[in-house]
Amino acid sequence: MKILVANLGSTSLKWRVFDFSKRPESLLHKGGFERVADYPKAIGDCLAQLKEAGAIQNENDLAAVGFKTIMARGVNGCVRLDEEVLRGMEAFSGIAPAHNPPYITGIRLFAQRMPSVPLVALFETAFYQWAPEAAMRYAVPDAWHELGLRRWGFHGASHKYIAERSAELLGREDVAERARRLYVDGGASAARKSDFRVISCHLGGSSSVTGILNGVAIGTSMGFSPQSGLPQNNRVGDLDSFALPFLMRSTGLSLDEAERLLCKESGLKALSGGFNDIRDIEAQAMQGDRHARLALEVLVHQTRHWIGAFLLELNGADALVFTAGIGENNVSIREAVCARLDNLGIVLDPERNAATKAAENVISSLDSRVKVLVIPANEELVVAREVRRFLEKCGRSQPTGPILHAYA
Ligand code: ADP
Repeated sequence: MKILVANLGSTSLKWRVFDFSKRPESLLHKGGFERVADYPKAIGDCLAQLKEAGAIQNENDLAAVGFKTIMARGVNGCVRLDEEVLRGMEAFSGIAPAHNPPYITGIRLFAQRMPSVPLVALFETAFYQWAPEAAMRYAVPDAWHELGLRRWGFHGASHKYIAERSAELLGREDVAERARRLYVDGGASAARKSDFRVISCHLGGSSSVTGILNGVAIGTSMGFSPQSGLPQNNRVGDLDSFALPFLMRSTGLSLDEAERLLCKESGLKALSGGFNDIRDIEAQAMQGDRHARLALEVLVHQTRHWIGAFLLELNGADALVFTAGIGENNVSIREAVCARLDNLGIVLDPERNAATKAAENVISSLDSRVKVLVIPANEELVVAREVRRFLEKCGRSQPTGPILHAYA
């Protein structure tokens, strides 16, 4: 069984193909295009590359295409994509303006290009379905909560992979199995020997910190929308709800313009004076730019703030994990995040830290009570495994529901 996982950005298409015919599954192909102007062509080129590389003979070799979708009204977990699910995604497009629209467009194009291949989504909100109610609730009336005004949590596939992989690496197969089966049984499986507590820091173009107890999320820094929590590359991060009306009344900004600015011109980009890649921000800071320095300090401060919250909620931690572009590669951000935490049992080994880039490794010192790990993100594998499980349960024969070809 071969599954293509497509990662859709507004101007990018990245993919991985997994083969599940043998255990463990294998990665057959990965690739991608940046600065995509013609999406239908990019999908065609992706399929051509897969054929050329011998990963598939034709598109019917694919058991399904999986998508790491963000959020939809009334839909969560792993589902077959059809017009109703897309309508749910459209209903929440305003909450995830950088993510839902490209996914909706891309999914319609995939449906058009390969009508006989099932399209299956795993929503990023899925990982938080079992988090305690008190951790996910805002202090608003029930009617607002029912509308969807609640903490949803995102980067679910990434943090779920960390839940599984950190337990495997630290010899807790019972917890790893519980995490792997989470979407099947909601964490009901496997007796626990003792609690296994993980704080997962996904630091990348967008960032979040999640607390994980025995493979199950207990809370996360992102709330109602992917614009919340830590400062993101160009999205604002947490902001008091009274800030928006204040800003609009004070400056005369329209709601649409304020929304655009919070989603595209804020976060690290606003703080640093126009840079949204940490490598550029660091280069500026090295030259003495105080705005760039502040941007780095805010990111580190917010990351530590959330690590602190989960250290308390979890009553300590067994592992602190760094993942995603910044978490995997950025030695100095990791060092700054872990500085002066020895009284809390977190001590980095500077040499191991400096030597670790884009590779799995323990970077804490031998006497650190909390193991500090770097684990490269593998969100696509989490999606592919859930899609496979979905197909095995529901069968491939059940056709994908109708998807309107609005972009024909
Ligand atoms: P996205 O969230 O868009 O998938 P990534 O997880 O790749 O993004 O994270 C992007 C961030 O990670 C950027 O700020 C970039 O500076 C940093 N980054 C990515 N790759 C590297 C690398 N090889 N070396 C240093 N920093 C990197």
